[in-house]
Amino acid sequence: MTDVLARLRDLQAGDLPVHGGRTLAYVYDSGLAEVDDIGRAAVAAYAGSNGLDPTAFPSLLTMENELVGFACGLLDAPRTAVGTVTSGGTESVLLAVQAARDAHPEITAPRMVIPSTAHAAFHKAAHYFGVGAVVVPVGPDFRADAAAMAAAIDDRTVLVAVSAPSYAHGVVDPVTEVAAAAAARGVRCHVDACIGGWVLPYAARLGRPVPTWTFAVEGVTSISVDLHKYAYAPKGTSLLLHRTPALRKPQFFASAAWPGYTMLNATMQSTKSGGPLAAAWAVVQEIGDDGYAALAGRVFEAVDRIVAGIGGPLRVVVPPDSTLVALATDDSCDPFTVCDEMAARGWYVQPQMSYAGAPATIHLSVSAATLDVVDDFLTALGASVQAAVEAGPVTVDDEVVAFIEALDPAALSDEDFDGLLAASGLLGDAASTGAGLVLPDRMAEVNALLDVASPAMREALLTAFLDRLSRPAR
Ligand SMILES: *Cc1c(COP(=O)(O)O)cnc(C)c1O
Repeated sequence: MTDVLARLRDLQAGDLPVHGGRTLAYVYDSGLAEVDDIGRAAVAAYAGSNGLDPTAFPSLLTMENELVGFACGLLDAPRTAVGTVTSGGTESVLLAVQAARDAHPEITAPRMVIPSTAHAAFHKAAHYFGVGAVVVPVGPDFRADAAAMAAAIDDRTVLVAVSAPSYAHGVVDPVTEVAAAAAARGVRCHVDACIGGWVLPYAARLGRPVPTWTFAVEGVTSISVDLHKYAYAPKGTSLLLHRTPALRKPQFFASAAWPGYTMLNATMQSTKSGGPLAAAWAVVQEIGDDGYAALAGRVFEAVDRIVAGIGGPLRVVVPPDSTLVALATDDSCDPFTVCDEMAARGWYVQPQMSYAGAPATIHLSVSAATLDVVDDFLTALGASVQAAVEAGPVTVDDEVVAFIEALDPAALSDEDFDGLLAASGLLGDAASTGAGLVLPDRMAEVNALLDVASPAMREALLTAFLDRLSRPAR
């Protein structure tokens, strides 16, 4: 057993660190060791428990209702509100869209109106559930254009969605205006607060300017908020809250159309581990309201110091409403090289491709744990920018740009993709022989190529890449 665990630790050593505040995407670190210990212990204690049937594991139902109750307090939910623990933000968004669609079986070609900054989970929902996504460009401040969204609502609209905040730019959409427009048409309005829902209420309590976005806004019918982000719970939990049980009703799936147990689910999974739910409950109990207020104080101090420390070739794309910061560069360097330089210095910051005329950026999801190392972060960032300026912006040859722009992903064969992946430097022999993932040390060239490609081509290339990585190790 010790050998297996030692091997596990060896494997894990190649991953991004989940503690220490130096990974500014994917992971959220409270910096509190006892919180981690409690989360882990709860996952372990409930790893075998099955959330399939709350009457068989009533403790899971108790914990779910307590978590939803806590969130109701945070999100100004009325007494009528109900909620469900899901496996993550994507599942919460999927279910919000599915429930909105199934509330209107009479609409044959349902659609949802979303801002261009909405999370990709909405496009996944559109794809899975056949709900057309009407994508409305955001304004120059990267916030949803409420008037344009209102104008996009029609008789087929089953849902309007906004973000609090958006992932890529960290700003809160004009929820009051959009929700009012939706309500005026009798349409559901979902607020995707997956990443901000647990921290924005504390920001408001700290006296920071936070636009109103919760159930306090009359037309808001549902809210998603992830526990595995700023509730600092282990991975695997999010909440989907509805204003009333009637709004949630279409989310349930029941089937007695077989000889086994009557299947009855509020989520997409049926059998599911009790571990993540128990861990989220335990972490929320341990941190508590005062603890989250203190953690919010720490994370916003880190955000403010980062924003204040940005200068030279770097700029903050838009002043952040929450804990997410997007950085852009001037022409003296490029964001992808800055990301590589940060990685070389032991920091993970996330490259974001150019999109809809907006330039490529660097994404930071700041954690409370980052505060302890924020001076080191700014030093590393300064050094990384300097190195990126010395290297000069990564360029893609004009012929290569023309070649990539002319590619139609739908017309490419598997062999074409093999060639493209090899030429782009994304795939060496290692992956194809099952030796695991060996990415180039520097991703800037690959990212610059992807940045030139259309969104459809990016999707196709990266799908081909993932497909080649995903091969049985025999
Ligand atoms: C993270 C996120 C999601 C998706 O959540 P997952 O937990 O990654 O599935 C949806 N919306 C926003 C705004 C997010 O930040």
